[in-house]
Amino acid sequence: MGGVSSVSATETIRVSEIFGPTIQGEGVLIGQPTVFVRTGGCDYRCSWCDSLHAVESRFRDSWIAMSLDDIWGQIEALSGGRPLTLSLSGGNPAIQPLGSLIERAHQHGYRAALETQGSIARDWFSDLDVLVLSPKPPSSGMEFNGDALLDCVRSAGGGPETVLKFVIFDEADYQFATQVAQLLPKLPVFLQPGNHTPPPPEESDAAIDMSGILDRMHWLVERVMQDRWFEAKILPQLHVLLWGNLRGV
Ligand code: SF4
Repeated sequence: MGGVSSVSATETIRVSEIFGPTIQGEGVLIGQPTVFVRTGGCDYRCSWCDSLHAVESRFRDSWIAMSLDDIWGQIEALSGGRPLTLSLSGGNPAIQPLGSLIERAHQHGYRAALETQGSIARDWFSDLDVLVLSPKPPSSGMEFNGDALLDCVRSAGGGPETVLKFVIFDEADYQFATQVAQLLPKLPVFLQPGNHTPPPPEESDAAIDMSGILDRMHWLVERVMQDRWFEAKILPQLHVLLWGNLRGV
């Protein structure tokens, strides 16, 4: 089982923000009520990252090293103590010691889902209910590490429902998604059009080119149908449709 026993009781988790309840806007859990725990820090710097306030070290002062009890207190207050799905995101949440938080969630009847780019594997992945692996395509400017991704899948084992999610901006990204999906043919695949107008990290809201995003979604649907890739699911970012670039919703 995961690394819960290796997490010391005094260890803290670096948190950028905790918010909700709201809906999960993306992928396999789209539409599900959730409380987000966004951790601070990421080993990537994607060109179109929409969460740079949880990535770049210049925002480090706004990240709080929180105890498990403090985090759990906020989750219970936000959810009214009624179990729901926790969404662990970032940054890259795999950097943080989250095994104890997942264990606490399960003790109280909550579910735990985590999304990561798949660059760092953790033994506690096997304790999750849902693991979303979102390898970053060429448009991100990041280099793909297939071995690390496979390590993540191995760490999860048969524990969580593990899925692949790809942000797609162009044909090169689409080709990347098809190739990675072939590496892991048993995993469900979710595709979503990228947001080319992400908010600047200093702002909690910003203008968004919604029609441009929807044009990309139209293209993506046609592209997938052209290939008869009928195993893939294509979804928009629901929170973007509802609230644009507004943060914390
Ligand atoms: S991996 Fe995710 S959080 Fe990290 S820089 Fe890329 S998009 Fe942002």
